[in-house]
Amino acid sequence: MPTKAPVLLIHGGASGRLLRGRKRAEVSASLTRILNSAYPLLLEGASAVEAVTAAVAELENDTLYNAGRGSKLQSDGRIRMSASIMDGHRRRFAGCVNVESLKNPVYLARALLKRPDRVLSGRGAARFARQLGLPFSNPYTPEQRHRYELRRRGKTGTVGAVALDRDGRLAAATSTGGKGFEYPFRVSDSPTSAGNFANAVCAVSATGTGEQIVEFAAASTVCAWVEAGLPLRSAVRRLLRNAGRFKGEFGLIALGKDGDFTASTTTKAIVWAAATQKGFTIPEF
Ligand code: ASP
Repeated sequence: MPTKAPVLLIHGGASGRLLRGRKRAEVSASLTRILNSAYPLLLEGASAVEAVTAAVAELENDTLYNAGRGSKLQSDGRIRMSASIMDGHRRRFAGCVNVESLKNPVYLARALLKRPDRVLSGRGAARFARQLGLPFSNPYTPEQRHRYELRRRGKTGTVGAVALDRDGRLAAATSTGGKGFEYPFRVSDSPTSAGNFANAVCAVSATGTGEQIVEFAAASTVCAWVEAGLPLRSAVRRLLRNAGRFKGEFGLIALGKDGDFTASTTTKAIVWAAATQKGFTIPEF
């Protein structure tokens, strides 16, 4: 297979509020740091699955985002996290739903890619993570607890990554702490093929109101349209135009097999950054 120029695209959610005030500089620095650590993996020949796993794990470790350590609390005051990965080359999806205290839910999703039962929830997911020896840690940050106590939703967003590796394989990963204040055990779009999908020609990670992302089957629909021959950007435009008509509030990052990519949203902004062989693109937020 010919060697492709690898691409890594990451996002930190479609909540433009993260971009207000002093947080902007922090967000840009964080996105740059994460690209600096994950993109070289692709240059060294790592698979797209490895690259999206590494990028999302870094995003989960950063309390700027609503995933892993920075997760929002559900209405009963508990944090339950969800994550998924899709290997577009093998067309395999795996995910975990509503896991508590797991340090990096994306690592559990990664491990589940090799299993016959590939989406686990709650206690079963936790038990399997313990069997694997994955680290658990306390995800409750004082900031998120404070916001919960004030009944404020907060400014942070779900995270995701899509990658194209040197062998032309695509993958997508998405991780979230949910919407914040949701009914306990509500299921997010992030561990579903609506929120996270990849095939041989396209990889998509979505963010925004999970219920609407599911109602539009957003990520899988964009990938199916690209597979059917629609150019990547047209597929994304069409999907978001339809969503806009129904007041859909979500966005996505999408990457095609030729390296073309886009980050688009029906909301005010989506936090994103990209790395290609030509350098990094970190928008002026
Ligand atoms: N999509 C996530 C959810 O609904 C939230 C987000 O992307 O900010 O759980």
